[in-house]
Amino acid sequence: MIEVRLSTTLYERFLTCPKAAAFSIDEDAKKLSMPSLRAALGKVSHRLVEESTRIPHNWSESDIALWFDENWRVYVEEQFLELVSRWAPNHVLKPESWPGYFATRAAAKSLVSKSSGLLPPRSTLNESSNPALKEDIALRLPLVEQYLVSADLGIVGKPDFVFLENDKATIYDYKFGNNQNDVEKHKLQMYFYQLLVESVLDVEVGRLAIVSSANKVLEIPFDRTAVNRLKGDIPRVIDAIETQKVAAIPSSSNCRFCSFKSICEPFKSSHIDLLPGRPMVISGHVSKVQRIDEKFQELMIRTSVKPEAAEVKVYAVPNGHEVKVGDSVLITDNLDFKDSLIVGFSWNSRIFFKT
Ligand code: SF4
Repeated sequence: MIEVRLSTTLYERFLTCPKAAAFSIDEDAKKLSMPSLRAALGKVSHRLVEESTRIPHNWSESDIALWFDENWRVYVEEQFLELVSRWAPNHVLKPESWPGYFATRAAAKSLVSKSSGLLPPRSTLNESSNPALKEDIALRLPLVEQYLVSADLGIVGKPDFVFLENDKATIYDYKFGNNQNDVEKHKLQMYFYQLLVESVLDVEVGRLAIVSSANKVLEIPFDRTAVNRLKGDIPRVIDAIETQKVAAIPSSSNCRFCSFKSICEPFKSSHIDLLPGRPMVISGHVSKVQRIDEKFQELMIRTSVKPEAAEVKVYAVPNGHEVKVGDSVLITDNLDFKDSLIVGFSWNSRIFFKT
């Protein structure tokens, strides 16, 4: 049995679909998870915010802006190459075309260059912080992006910024993407961090806030009852995932962006359509393969899902997917339906071969 350490992502995934949470800790199944463009931008932004705390305090605003521009370029390129290798043979969009690219960049730059006290003073950050030791907490805060593990609660996480205010801990988390101002959406994550910080650092948390673009600080309502309810629910969730006693909850919203559709039997037997005639999965035998140019091919798929036989054309499939007539395939994710029988394959669509 795998010992589960629950992160806020895993907990929230469990609440949406317990089966998806179980898949995501399975060594084989988790290889199906693919990196997204938004996650790549989030990684770059968080890395820059964290590293900016080590900028010498005598740097001018223009020094910091130059530092940001250069490192943004390098880290985005790293993420792009990672995406290219993970998504091959699909053709990943160039970074400037990623949704939210410019807005995220502006938000991260603003936070780094005009941090105005929202980040720990650059000269006071304690590099040798060891949160495993509970004494002298004041000497070891602030913490920036420190990975914390609570063996007592079985939870883990990396709050962006933890610092002392009036002898209590304040936790900030930086938000760059969609819904960054949606306090309701971030409550659970912040209550999770509250539990984690209080357990690992043995300090009472007094304030929770998210920091969105343009250094806007949004307070999360303090709610000890909700935190205790969450604490009481954690053992149930860990036990369910560890013992694999997990139900699948297939639905259009749950499954649409789930990475495990190709191995999830409850999903496959539910035959969910996004819209009438717009299935999430095209499943069947390849009846024709036609090269269009040096990059793309078109496939005709005789579907096996519909009761009546149908031939679906899937176009813009990269040639690197070595598809042959007679292959049994499952094509899914971000399909661009022109009508129910003509479908575009997107840069982040996927083909699985069935044996
Ligand atoms: S495909 Fe749907 S039902 Fe299956 S694990 Fe994913 S979200 Fe759950």
